[in-house]
Amino acid sequence: MEIRVAGDARIYVLKNDDGYSRAVAAVGIAEGEVLAPFGARETLATPNYLTVQTGPDTHILLAPEHLQYINHSCDPNVFFDTARMEIIALRAIAPGEEIQFFYPSTEWTMDRAFDCLCGSSECLGRIAGADQLDARALARHRFNLHILDRLAERLAEAA
Ligand SMILES: [Zn+2]
Repeated sequence: MEIRVAGDARIYVLKNDDGYSRAVAAVGIAEGEVLAPFGARETLATPNYLTVQTGPDTHILLAPEHLQYINHSCDPNVFFDTARMEIIALRAIAPGEEIQFFYPSTEWTMDRAFDCLCGSSECLGRIAGADQLDARALARHRFNLHILDRLAERLAEAA
């Protein structure tokens, strides 16, 4: 059974008997709509399993705190725009649908790599950050500027 443990009028968090939590849309969201603004409770110089990378050396703990339960998917329905500090819908989201983002869209190298079980036909399997993605995955997804800058640097070094 899942119970509601946190959230607000637009996003809430469900937790199951195994302690697994996920964020769900409370209302319908249109493609391109801002689902929620976000900020930093704290800014760290190194990543941990809860942080979102917002620049070359900045990793934030999300505010409001319930946003940290937005899990990864290789077929995400939202994008964390770290320049605008807004969570944006990549497609229409129905009430009750889980909200998920593509972790490498913000993370260059993750603190904890993991084996993804998202079930998408495009699932990448091991998720370790943008640094580990192949050209196909890079072409398929949207990334923040600090990630695009690192990719450009790497290309320049290889040339
Ligand atoms: Zn996956």
